[in-house]
Amino acid sequence: MKKIEHIGIAVKDLRKSNRLYAKLLGVEHYKIECVKSEGVNTSFFKVDGNKIELLEATSPDSPIAKFIEKRGEGVHHIAFAVDDIGAEIERLKTEGFELIHHKAKPGADGKLIAFLHPKSSGGVLIELCQDMDNKE
Ligand code: ZN
Repeated sequence: MKKIEHIGIAVKDLRKSNRLYAKLLGVEHYKIECVKSEGVNTSFFKVDGNKIELLEATSPDSPIAKFIEKRGEGVHHIAFAVDDIGAEIERLKTEGFELIHHKAKPGADGKLIAFLHPKSSGGVLIELCQDMDNKE
């Protein structure tokens, strides 16, 4: 694993939260992207190389809707950059971690992603991220 790629925050209303985070961070979001397979609308902010991803559910059965129902708005996941997501998935499996995605899949912002189950990582949802153009 490399650096923290971004921190994901679950929000109820993306437009409202975009305004809140623009005020907080002093910059506007640089993109909005829908990830259909995950049932989310996302927006991204960057401050000094640090990325924040806001996630809004696109339907009531979206994982984000379920998260907010249970725990309310707030920090949803921490994403780490990796060079070779396939190798990292295998390494983590060998170490006994439970993967939600056993194979990398396309995520937002030009990444291949996979999530670890929070019950095997101390209650924290962990995302692995590899740059798509890094894929051989
Ligand atoms: Zn993420």
